[in-house]
Amino acid sequence: MQMLNQINDIIISPYFNLSEFACPCCKKIMLHPKLLVKLIELRKILERPVYITSGYRCTRYNQKVGGVTNSYHCIGLAADIKVKDINLIELLEICENIDFTGIGFYEKKNFLHLDVRPTKRTRWRE
Ligand SMILES: [Zn+2]
Ligand SMILES: [Zn+2]
Repeated sequence: MQMLNQINDIIISPYFNLSEFACPCCKKIMLHPKLLVKLIELRKILERPVYITSGYRCTRYNQKVGGVTNSYHCIGLAADIKVKDINLIELLEICENIDFTGIGFYEKKNFLHLDVRPTKRTRWRE
C-alpha cells in the first residue's frame, strides 16, 4: 500500500528524518529528544551527513542483530552512526565534547555507538 511508504517520513530537523531512526523490521520507533539534539549538534560541527545505521530496535530486531539485552536502542536512547571521510578517532573526539553518556568505538566496522543513558558515563571499544 502506497501510504505505508510514508510512515515516519517526517522531517524532524534540518538534517534528520524520523524514518532514519525507525526499526528496519517493523518501522516502530522511539526517539528521545536529548539524543536528537546531540546528533544535530554533531551534524552542525561536522558540516556533512551523519548516517544513522541503527536507531530504534524492537526486541526481536535487537536479538537478530546480536544487540545486548536491554540495549539503549530498544528505548530510543541510542544510535549507531557513520560519517564519510573522517577518521573514527577524530569523530570520537568530537562526540566526547558533545558529551554523549555512552560511546562505543567500533574500529573494524568503522562506526560509533552513541547514547544518552541517564546513568554514568560509559565507554567501550570493539
Ligand atoms: Zn522491529
Ligand atoms: Zn549501538
